[in-house]
Amino acid sequence: MNWAKGNLGWIEVVCGPMFSGKSEELIRRLRRAEIARQRVQIFKPGIDQRYSHDHIVSHSDLRIHSTAVRDAADVEAKLDLRTEVIGIDEAQFLGMELVEIVVRLADMSKRIIVAGLDTDYLGRPFHPIPELLAVADEITKTLAICMQCGNPAKHTQRLVASEDLIVVGAAGLYEARCRRCFEPNLAKLDEPLASAMRATVSDSRK
Ligand code: ADP
Ligand code: ZN
Repeated sequence: MNWAKGNLGWIEVVCGPMFSGKSEELIRRLRRAEIARQRVQIFKPGIDQRYSHDHIVSHSDLRIHSTAVRDAADVEAKLDLRTEVIGIDEAQFLGMELVEIVVRLADMSKRIIVAGLDTDYLGRPFHPIPELLAVADEITKTLAICMQCGNPAKHTQRLVASEDLIVVGAAGLYEARCRRCFEPNLAKLDEPLASAMRATVSDSRK
């Protein structure tokens, strides 16, 4: 957006499956804004306390300070009006209200960078990311590497049987899979059968 004149409001969305580098990319963009001495605020849902309550931490261990929020309204409540650049990670956990809030902030000349999962463990669009894509000025889709075959991976494979939409975790609970290797039904199976299948999967990798 280096061609934009003045403080044009701007919405960037970075989306893809787990392990695809969304947090790395978000951290990279936010660091550059900090280097440019812009006022930056960074938010992530409090539900995601995998590695740290007050940092965004990537799977490759890059980290940046962040403020935990309950939902989208909490982002607005905790926003300092002088902030120029707003980063939000794991936006799929913040609810549909995030869409209008993000648009309102862009209309106030803020630059907003949102990262999140575009699909859930069954491969369905994960709201509000699809709606954020529709209102975005710039979109980046990131791909991971399929843990089964090495192809580009667009899916998040849940490895444990649970039909809850939200099961927070990373290694061991989820892995990246390509379209061909994605098995949404694995998450629906009885646990003994699922672990038998996981054993088969890891045997086939040896
Ligand atoms: P995301 O935010 O999309 O979950 P992160 O930015 O936290 O992703 O982590 C990306 C990093 O995860 C990669 O740079 C790499 O070090 C690591 N990684 C682990 N598993 C995979 C995988 N299957 N494909 C790609 N990167 C992986
Ligand atoms: Zn594959």
